[in-house]
Amino acid sequence: MTEKSIIIIGAGLAGLSTGCFAQMNGYRTKIFERQDKPGGVCVSWKRKGYTFDYAVHNLFGVAPNSVNNSLWQELGALEGLETYSFKEFVQVEDAEGKVFTVHTDLNELKRHMEELAPNDRKLIDEFAQAVSQFSGYDLFAALSGGFGAKLKMLPLMGSLMKYSKLTIKEFAEQFTDPFMRKAFSTIQYDLADVPVLIPIIFLSTLNRGDGGWPIGGSMALSRNIEKRYLSLGGEIAYNSMVTKVLVENNRAVGIQVEDGSKYYADTVVSAADGYSTIFSMLEGKYTNDLIRTYYINYPKNQPFGLEVWFGVARNLSKEPHALVLFLKEPIMVEGKQHDRLSVEIFNFDPTFAPPNKTVIKVVMESNYDYWKQLSEQPEKYKTEKKRFADQIAQCLETRFPGLQSQIEAQDVVTPVSVEHWTGSYRGCQAWGVPKRYAKQMAKNGVSKTLPGLSSFYMVGQWAAGNIGLNTVCLLGRNLVRELCESDKRKFKSTKV
Ligand SMILES: Cc1cc2nc3c(=O)[nH]c(=O)nc-3n(C[C@H](O)[C@H](O)[C@H](O)COP(=O)(O)OP(=O)(O)OC[C@H]3O[C@@H](n4cnc5c(N)ncnc54)[C@H](O)[C@@H]3O)c2cc1C
Repeated sequence: MTEKSIIIIGAGLAGLSTGCFAQMNGYRTKIFERQDKPGGVCVSWKRKGYTFDYAVHNLFGVAPNSVNNSLWQELGALEGLETYSFKEFVQVEDAEGKVFTVHTDLNELKRHMEELAPNDRKLIDEFAQAVSQFSGYDLFAALSGGFGAKLKMLPLMGSLMKYSKLTIKEFAEQFTDPFMRKAFSTIQYDLADVPVLIPIIFLSTLNRGDGGWPIGGSMALSRNIEKRYLSLGGEIAYNSMVTKVLVENNRAVGIQVEDGSKYYADTVVSAADGYSTIFSMLEGKYTNDLIRTYYINYPKNQPFGLEVWFGVARNLSKEPHALVLFLKEPIMVEGKQHDRLSVEIFNFDPTFAPPNKTVIKVVMESNYDYWKQLSEQPEKYKTEKKRFADQIAQCLETRFPGLQSQIEAQDVVTPVSVEHWTGSYRGCQAWGVPKRYAKQMAKNGVSKTLPGLSSFYMVGQWAAGNIGLNTVCLLGRNLVRELCESDKRKFKSTKV
């Protein structure tokens, strides 16, 4: 069999996964990455001996027999890494000290909710039953499997329909207990308007023991998949920013990088930012109504857009790993009022800080335009980032007295930072599409292929309009399976 060649743009998880499966199936691949390291948004970095992690909160697929875990074994993602299972999803605390702990053990969670809100037993029972029902199924099996796997999910259809139409906020509003009404709507960060199905899926996965944290965090995961790709014979060119997809007679034939050099292959796959791929590298010549509408309708505020990390000389290992702290007085950030902080405490990962020290991260939604405007005056941008970090440190002081004086390192990431390092459109993660495109999305995502252009494919969050470490890796796997089919090869995969 002749060896077909594939150029992949981007060494985020989608690009690396595509590369791994392509190498397993006899394709010759080379990845071009604008950064000097793998991972895309799945990265972490060092500051004064502390590790600040950008992406992972919860990794699905840590249970040995789950479908996700099988994908991780193929990619060698968890090779040599221990995984940690969280005892709570998050703990919500109001300013008066009332606490709602979202235990990952469903029985404990139900008992605790009933204690907090005895008059809401019916609603609590409904929620617990939904989590319990979903705990019995591996939803990822349906996503990655064929018709048979999807058929097995039939008993879930009623609940899937019901809870995908109801938002977290709408579900929370059904509580008669005022604290639960307020607290429940915050359990999934600032995402109160997403379907309540999302926390149900998270909690059922955690309850089943299939969700957790890879010790070493995002970078360890990305490096492991990079290692697997290289061991399969793949090549990566770092510091190689692709500026153009080369096209002849509406067929992608290669790429051009920033220094002008050109590289050719039988197939080109972009696992890079969607907007720049479609509108810059391909000059907007291959689009459709869905693609144009998608990129016009970007979210004004980006969840997790603004993140601040502190390295503190203090042991917080007795604290929950995730907290929502309601504030006595609201704070103004980006000219908008915020009544709470979403806090993450990383003592559970001993690789993140020296002994008895801790990394704390606070995340907030953010407006790209606010920071983009500031970034045009670098001093002002820097000052505003510092002002934000100081403001958050001051808020944390109430819950952790003495903390401000224990801060040894800090860093702030805005949507402009993310745009700068990954090229992601407006520093965003992918978002949903208007309902009228649902059918088209189900078939081709936002842009898994582009109209009128052959030998060209897209994978990753931008191709699918969907995020998730496992989701984007699966997209890479599915693409290679399709390529094998059209090349009349039997798709095969191996495990580490
Ligand atoms: C804050 C945050 C928290 C998250 N938490 C979780 C979580 O807990 N669990 C979970 O499952 N998922 C989580 N996600 C989602 C998940 O991390 C992403 O969906 C996934 O990593 C996206 O991978 P990707 O490869 O599609 O894109 P990216 O990671 O964006 O990779 C794209 C790559 O392309 C490169 N590139 C771009 N343009 C060019 C160019 N012109 N030339 C060369 N290279 C280029 C970029 O540098 C980058 O390396 C989180 C995401 C974020 C942002």
